[in-house]
Amino acid sequence: MVPSIKAIIRSVLPNVRFGSGLPLAVKAVYEGGIRIKVSLPGVEPWAFLDQEILDPRYGEADRKRRLRERVRLGVLRVLEEAYSLAPRPWGLLMGVRPTKMVHSMLDRGFSQSELRKVLANVYAAAPEKIELLLTVAAQQRSFFHPNPNQPVSVYVGIPFCPTRCSYCSFASYPLASHGHLFDGFFEVLCQEIKAVGGLLKELKIDVEAIYLGGGTPTTVQGKKLVKLLSLVRQYLTTPATKEMTVEAGRPDTLSGATLSILQEFGTDRISINPQTMQERTLQVIGRGHGIEEIKRAYRLARTIGIPLINTDIILGLPGESVSDVEDTLRQIEALRPDSLTVHGLAVKRASRLKKEEAEVQIAQETGAEMAFLAAEYAAKWGMDPYYLYRQRHTLADLENVGYSLPGSQSIYNVQMMEERQTIIALGGGGITKLVSPDLSLVRHINPKCPATYSQRIRAGLGAKIGQIRDHFLV
Ligand code: SF4
Repeated sequence: MVPSIKAIIRSVLPNVRFGSGLPLAVKAVYEGGIRIKVSLPGVEPWAFLDQEILDPRYGEADRKRRLRERVRLGVLRVLEEAYSLAPRPWGLLMGVRPTKMVHSMLDRGFSQSELRKVLANVYAAAPEKIELLLTVAAQQRSFFHPNPNQPVSVYVGIPFCPTRCSYCSFASYPLASHGHLFDGFFEVLCQEIKAVGGLLKELKIDVEAIYLGGGTPTTVQGKKLVKLLSLVRQYLTTPATKEMTVEAGRPDTLSGATLSILQEFGTDRISINPQTMQERTLQVIGRGHGIEEIKRAYRLARTIGIPLINTDIILGLPGESVSDVEDTLRQIEALRPDSLTVHGLAVKRASRLKKEEAEVQIAQETGAEMAFLAAEYAAKWGMDPYYLYRQRHTLADLENVGYSLPGSQSIYNVQMMEERQTIIALGGGGITKLVSPDLSLVRHINPKCPATYSQRIRAGLGAKIGQIRDHFLV
């Protein structure tokens, strides 16, 4: 069976075993459009003739894709009927970046109302998800440039954290157990910044946005932080640079001294991420800080003059109810963030929470209620959704949404998510994406582990530089 059909079956029947049970029959022909018939014993067959795909704005590749989508929709519909399943809010949109498809259709001149029909009829997305997608896409269009390689954006990954949160599946190594790798990692990172930044300067490539992420970049402190930001300023910043973000993340790394250094080096945005404002949950997920530290870091950052502060929260954390989420949002309201990123909890293999999965299930309706509440609060604060992505293994099939006050959107988040701009990534776990004018892309992945990173970059920096150079010179 084709993998995409298996995937859709698994998404609604996670425990399905293929090769046994009821025979699923699919008939697809290209005749005056795409004719599909999907049958499963015991339920009405699903049949459809898609003539919309004959629109001349679609090409051959679209028609092939549409054929697969129609089959998947038919399979979904007969399974819903056979097993009395509630329709899924995201329908067939199972990928990480559902906005990409919307942008591709907007590029070809499809109108909002045409898109609404396609999203509902082809992808079976629920009306609220369609409106979210269209709002996000409309917010993003002005960030796109005609040339994906001029300007570019740069990511710098620092894969260390004070402790490891139980839900974490990112490049993150606790300082207590991996601190001995820090100096070696830092030295190689400096070499990588100099070499890659030097190449960008040589080729006169503008850098639009710089993002220091991780991990927790503010685990780099004092003289080392000054050195890091000096190198970023010297090698990566260009006159075209509009934004520098430091994902401060953990408030327990934010002293007045650290925030002052960030401010001095022109940091435009930081993220202070409580994830929740429930003291008990912070302990359960191993954040290693309390609510007071979040408030203290916020006050300090405002006093020191960091222009924009983003805040991340996670919906579906262990033991949290809708009223806990509401209380968190009320407390965040008092902090007056410039942007809010709302994540659905993703229980991934690499996280400690995976082992306790039974305790972290929430019902679809509860998840939807939490997401609705977060959207309501963001709207009340004057924020609009401006970027969106989905992850596998997210509780209640929730999406991740970035909301922002007008003019406070993170340029980097849009560019990184939509993959219409080359992203040069340095440091641990950084994924370089070299985007071509036809929007195809080639990835280069730096190892997450600080020891492997140091070893590989020492040995392979020349090859990485060569790959980036070739890309720009083609
Ligand atoms: S602060 Fe972020 S990167 Fe670090 S352990 Fe927690 S979730 Fe992972």
